[in-house]
Amino acid sequence: MNVTPESITRDGETAIVIQWSDGKVTRWTVAKLRASCPCATCREKKRGEVKSRPVLPVLTAAEAQPLNIVSMRPVGTYAYNIEFSDGHSSGLFQFSMLYGEDD
Ligand SMILES: [Zn+2]
Repeated sequence: MNVTPESITRDGETAIVIQWSDGKVTRWTVAKLRASCPCATCREKKRGEVKSRPVLPVLTAAEAQPLNIVSMRPVGTYAYNIEFSDGHSSGLFQFSMLYGEDD
């Protein structure tokens, strides 16, 4: 895809807004980005949760903290590496995926 981000700004405490070179604007909440993390670990975890869901819902210490973005760095010219405040930073968020979200 030829569309690239022109700017990334915070939208309140828990969301970001990406302005694209074609004029489109996408808004992502940090929680939604974290849940959409495309790295192997998260994809594996998501699959595992379907099988071994706990009987009662749990809130881990990490989940109890307000989730935030620590940094967002471009990788090449096609993706961003996002570091989250829960310590997770192995996800590569491709432009096409960030662009496709319409909230
Ligand atoms: Zn991940």
